[in-house]
Amino acid sequence: MIGRGAAGARGVQGVAILGSTGSIGTTALRVLSRQQDRFRVAALTAFSNAALLREQAELHHPSYVGLVNDCARQERGWTTGSDCLVEAATHGEVDIVLNAVVGAAGLDATLAALESGKRVALANKETLVVAGELAAEAAARGGGEIVPVDSEHSAILQCIAGRPGAEVRRIVLTASGGPFRGWSRDRLERATIAEALAHPTWQMGRKITVDSATLANKALEVIEAHFLFGLPYDRIEVVVHPQSVVHSFVEFVDGSVLAQMGVPSMELPVLYALTHPNRLPDTGVPPFDAVELSPLTFERVRHDDFPALRLGIEAGRAGGAAPAVFNAANEQAVALFLEGRARFYDIPGAIASALDALATLPGGSREALLAADAAARRHVFEKLSC
Ligand code: NAD
Ligand code: MG
Repeated sequence: MIGRGAAGARGVQGVAILGSTGSIGTTALRVLSRQQDRFRVAALTAFSNAALLREQAELHHPSYVGLVNDCARQERGWTTGSDCLVEAATHGEVDIVLNAVVGAAGLDATLAALESGKRVALANKETLVVAGELAAEAAARGGGEIVPVDSEHSAILQCIAGRPGAEVRRIVLTASGGPFRGWSRDRLERATIAEALAHPTWQMGRKITVDSATLANKALEVIEAHFLFGLPYDRIEVVVHPQSVVHSFVEFVDGSVLAQMGVPSMELPVLYALTHPNRLPDTGVPPFDAVELSPLTFERVRHDDFPALRLGIEAGRAGGAAPAVFNAANEQAVALFLEGRARFYDIPGAIASALDALATLPGGSREALLAADAAARRHVFEKLSC
C-alpha cells in the first residue's frame, strides 16, 4: 500500500469526486446516496458535462463545484479551468478524494491530495503508471494514502489483509479478456469502434473500454499493482477470466491461494476504498449466488494477438519515463481510434513505435514525466495522422 492514513476514521467524512459525471463518478454518487450517515459529498468536478454536474450539485449540495472546460456557461459559485481538480483535491472539507478522472490529466490532483494528507480512493490508475514513485514520495511527505478502486487491486488489498509483503509469493490479476477474447487475428484486424465498445461484463467509460479490448488496461493494472503492493514484475501475473466474478488471486509463500469474489459491480470496490480497512453494511448489489454465476472459467492470455499487455509490462520493467510513454502513447492512439482516424491494431503498433523512440527519456521528476508524456502523444499523432 502507498502511504498510511488514519485507519478507521470515525464521524462523517467529506468526499471529493473528481470526474463525477463519468462511469465511476456516477457509481460513487449512487453509493454515497445510501451512506449519508458516514459520508458527505464535499466537492464535485467534471470536464464538460455542465448539465449533469448541475443536477448532481443540486442533489448533493457540495461546498465546491469545478468544471474544467469553461466553454460551457459558468454557473455562479463554480470554479472553472483545470486548476479545479487540485483545488477540490486539497479542499479543507475533503477527507477522501475519489479520483475518477480518466487519463494522465488526473495526476496533479492525486499528488496534491497525497501531499495534503488525504486518502485517495484511486480509480485513475494512469496516475500510478505515469508517476508511481512520485506518488509514493508525496504520500510519505504529506501523510496521505492511496486505496485502490480498481476491482483487481481492491481484491488483492482485501486478500493480503495487512499481512507482510514477504508472505506474498505472487499475485494473479484476472482479466475479462474484453469483447475480442475469442476473436481470430484476422477478425481483430477489422474490428470496429462499436465492436470495441461492446464490453461483455462491465459498463465503463469509452477509453477504458477500448483499453480492455486491447488488454492495455491490464498492462496499466500490472504497473499499478507493482507500485501499490511493492511487488517485482516477475511476481505479478495475469489470467483471463471471462465472467469477472473472481476479481484477483493472491498466492502466499505456503502455497495457499486467496481469491476475492463478487458480482461484477464497481459499487463494491468504490465503497471499500472509502471504508478500508472497515466495512459498512450496504445492499447496493444483488446477493452473491454461486450457482447463478457458474461456471467460472480461466484461460491463458493470447499475448501474440494482444501485444499491448506485454509492451506495457516491458515498459514497467524498464522504469524511468517508459511507463509514462506507454500510457500517453496509448491515450493518444485510443483517442484517434475513437475518432475513426486509426484502426484497432494501430493502437499497439503506435505504442511500440513510441516506446522504441522515447522509452529511455529521463523520468525523475514531474516535469520530466510530463515532457515524456507530451513527446509520446506527438509521436503517435504524427505517426497515425500521416
Ligand atoms: P469516464 O470517461 O466515464 O469518466 C471520466 C470522468 O473524468 C468524467 O467525469 C469526465 O468529465 C472527467 N474528465 C475527463 N477528462 C478530464 C480532464 N482532462 N480533466 C478533468 N476531468 C476529466 O471514465 P470512467 O470509466 O469513469 O473511468 C475513470 C477512471 O477510472 C479511469 O482511469 C479508468 O481507467 C478507471 N476505472 C474505471 C472503471 C469503470 O468501471 N468505469 C473500473 C476501474 C477503473
Ligand atoms: Mg480493473
